[in-house]
Amino acid sequence: MPASITIRSSYLTGYSDCPRKVAAHIIPDEIKVLGYDFPIQPKGIGSIVGNAAHLAAATYMQDKLSHGELTLNKNDGLDVAITEFRKEIVDGAIFDDTTPSKNDGESQLKILNNAFFHTVCPVIIPLFVENRFTAKLSDDWFLSGAPDVVTADSVPDWKFGRIARAHYQQVGGYKLLIDNCLSTDIRKGTVYSIPRTPLKKQFAGVAIKEYDVDACARSAFAVYNHIKRDVELFRETGDPECFLANRSSMLCTPKYCQCYGTAWCELSI
Ligand code: SF4
Repeated sequence: MPASITIRSSYLTGYSDCPRKVAAHIIPDEIKVLGYDFPIQPKGIGSIVGNAAHLAAATYMQDKLSHGELTLNKNDGLDVAITEFRKEIVDGAIFDDTTPSKNDGESQLKILNNAFFHTVCPVIIPLFVENRFTAKLSDDWFLSGAPDVVTADSVPDWKFGRIARAHYQQVGGYKLLIDNCLSTDIRKGTVYSIPRTPLKKQFAGVAIKEYDVDACARSAFAVYNHIKRDVELFRETGDPECFLANRSSMLCTPKYCQCYGTAWCELSI
């Protein structure tokens, strides 16, 4: 009997970009048992800064949820972010041109925290903060996800990446989950992009994008079904080609893909 599978909503967007890469996250043990292996990658500075900024944002949202209003000031969130950043960076990180040093990362966190506190925080009334939802969508297959927050009619999300990317299927996955787990009618999916910006450049501010949540949910369900079909075929054949390999992906680099240069993705060798 094959193991049941839980697909994270955050994988749905990436699967559209490169199925082979995301398969290595969804069923790593089933792939490794066939002799494929992937190197452990050090954390990128982008994800360390992003996680620290997310933690500060969650702290504000939790405070609003607990007290009905924000009682913290922006230094409270910044302290949380800097503490998390210093803890995560202890084991090393891959720096990049946007954040070439630890000091740059801390200065950028100050900017990101400031933008979130003044622009995003006041307009969000959270009902759930980073709550993990899981729904059984078919057979032994589950979808799970922990949206940044859920409000009375929306599933807002914040991104602290260098570039504002599209997140249609992730937002759609959250919509599917909330439809299955709550009586809340989600009508809006708003993504707030707060870009990690090189200190020598001017910070562009918060970009806000509204998603059509119903269209996103349909697309998310289609990707979910693709994953299911691909994994079932892989379980029958053991052939990596069950998962398309997109060498044209912008993230097809050793820095962003642990499969790069491995037998699991022979085109990249
Ligand atoms: S190396 Fe490129 S094509 Fe291969 S799995 Fe990674 S992203 Fe996809």
